[in-house]
Amino acid sequence: MSPKTGKDSDGYHHEHVKCAERVDVLVVGAGMVGLAFASALKDSGLKVTLIERGEPAVFESLGMDCRVSAIVLGNQQILQGLGAWKHLQADAGAMHSMRIWDDQHPGGIRFDADEISEGDTNYAALGYLVQNSHLQAALKKTLLPHDNVEILCPTTIRTVEWLSEHVQITLQDGHRLIAPLIVGADGAHSWLREQADIGVYSRDYNQSGIVANVRSMMPHHGTAFQRFTASGPLAMLPMGNGLCSIVWSQFSDDVERLMALDDIGFLEELNLTFGPMLGRIEEVGKRAAFPLKARLAIHLVRPRLALIGDAAHTIHPLAGLGVNLGLRDAMVLAQEIVDAKKYGEDWGDMSVLNRYMKLRMPDILSVMGSMEGLHRIFTSQLPGLPMLRGLGMKALGNASIIKSLLMRNSTGLTLPVPKQVG
Ligand SMILES: Cc1cc2nc3c(=O)[nH]c(=O)nc-3n(C[C@H](O)[C@H](O)[C@H](O)COP(=O)(O)OP(=O)(O)OC[C@H]3O[C@@H](n4cnc5c(N)ncnc54)[C@H](O)[C@@H]3O)c2cc1C
Repeated sequence: MSPKTGKDSDGYHHEHVKCAERVDVLVVGAGMVGLAFASALKDSGLKVTLIERGEPAVFESLGMDCRVSAIVLGNQQILQGLGAWKHLQADAGAMHSMRIWDDQHPGGIRFDADEISEGDTNYAALGYLVQNSHLQAALKKTLLPHDNVEILCPTTIRTVEWLSEHVQITLQDGHRLIAPLIVGADGAHSWLREQADIGVYSRDYNQSGIVANVRSMMPHHGTAFQRFTASGPLAMLPMGNGLCSIVWSQFSDDVERLMALDDIGFLEELNLTFGPMLGRIEEVGKRAAFPLKARLAIHLVRPRLALIGDAAHTIHPLAGLGVNLGLRDAMVLAQEIVDAKKYGEDWGDMSVLNRYMKLRMPDILSVMGSMEGLHRIFTSQLPGLPMLRGLGMKALGNASIIKSLLMRNSTGLTLPVPKQVG
């Protein structure tokens, strides 16, 4: 099926195009992924316009955003290349090691950064924890000196029309823009995806992730903890200021109950579930809960349309890879556009967009598949599974080759890194 069209008698809206402002790429959504995409195009000479409906809410908890992202090493290098990392590094929490265990076998698995070092290359960390609002601000700073990138905010699109050689949008104030390509970076409930009649494959986990910042009695020493329980994983992520950020996935009824507890009651339950690894967890800030659903857009591209980030796919946050996938979408699409410009191709044409889709699908499907598998293994109570899980944990803890492979995947170092854009 092709995107919704609003054609005139000859098929296209020529008269509208005449008075519309022309740009090279339109982007809907200036979240982390939309901004990273624009930043990757900032030196390309292309005119890029982002449309953002409003500054996203910051969920403050113990004085910092409790929406945080674990940025894997491969993507930290991307952020460095974009010029955003220098604005983030002072506050980023380095993840030197990771401990994973479940409620049956407390030993679990431990990963350390020095285990992925090869030859002369030593990695100081497995990845870094950054506050989402900081990441957005850092990416915006990379755009400041570049007149070719413009953010229109707050505004939304009233209509989108798919023409033969362009896409045309009309903003709420009546202003019209046309471009050879529009990019949907407008999140999980993408308005643009809906306008293009693109459905999603989805799987509702019937769970929500409770996020909050907490203070523990003992320092985290840069260790990320993940405890799998039958009702879902609890992650304790080391932030730069000594606090930890939690992502506690629970079934919807339990989430309602946990969110309704006062801080003392919530800390009781949290300590009981997490255990004594960091001494007592003594303080918790404001909490927020986000419903968890895996989604994959049935099409990533259509003529003159590409989807990136959560507009294209969402995954369970158990390995903290959602925005990491989105950053790689952004870089690959930007690279394809830059190459198309260089070789005189139309970057809104399917021949170019299909290249983006083909390059991204293996990574997206493999991460989605792994998240689904892990979630099933760790939440299943089928007879025998807890024992197998324990054996698996033990094997992983001891088998250094398997462990280092696993670590390299969770750090993104084995994934193809897009060529430098610009
Ligand atoms: C509990 C939880 C924990 C997570 N932890 C991690 C983690 O540790 N690591 C990780 O990699 N990922 C994590 N994720 C996933 C990560 O948060 C998302 O993948 C990421 O936010 C997606 O970024 P995005 O820019 O694609 O979309 P969004 O962040 O949703 O941004 C979309 C933007 O589009 C704008 N917009 C929406 N509609 C319109 C419209 N019609 N017009 C104009 N603008 C519009 C919005 O205002 C917003 O600014 C987690 C998710 C959850 C729920």
